[in-house]
Amino acid sequence: MDLLIFWDSGAPAGLELPVMRMISVLLDVPARVCGNPLIMNGYVGSRRQTDASVLLDSIGVFKQRQDIRNHVLVVTGNDIFSAGATSLFGLARPSAGAAVVSTARFSNEFYGKDGNEEDLIDRTVKESAHEVGHLLGLDHCMTPECIMHNPLTLDDLDRKKRWFCPVCKNILDSARIMNSLF
Ligand SMILES: [Zn+2]
Ligand SMILES: [Zn+2]
Repeated sequence: MDLLIFWDSGAPAGLELPVMRMISVLLDVPARVCGNPLIMNGYVGSRRQTDASVLLDSIGVFKQRQDIRNHVLVVTGNDIFSAGATSLFGLARPSAGAAVVSTARFSNEFYGKDGNEEDLIDRTVKESAHEVGHLLGLDHCMTPECIMHNPLTLDDLDRKKRWFCPVCKNILDSARIMNSLF
């Protein structure tokens, strides 16, 4: 079960390879990254945001048309929202094997602070691994340092480690074994 990462043109250039490798190591799954072949539907001009649910629809349709069985993660620079949230770091739809992560709120500049590439990479890796974790069957976790903890703020995200707690790790290992059977 390889992970396919589509790196959108608006996502931070030059970070796709280190981010892909770190996600792959964290989840212990093979991963590939390429430019985003999707047409980015769902942009709402009045909000200057993209509807994450519409994006997930697009990924699902693309996967069906191209007969792609891999889990697909789109990393975009567009700010995203959904019906239930005015802004989001990411969203996953396990039934479609599709997830999206937005880097829009991961840069220090967004909060009026000095930019730091390490912060940007760290947040993108943690949020991406979190959403792909959902695709692999993981739910939210109460342990604040665990990747599967639900981050409501940037502080929550920064508090997390690049680490799955033992409970989540067990579920992840089982999911990997199940996936390798098919
Ligand atoms: Zn989540
Ligand atoms: Zn956990």
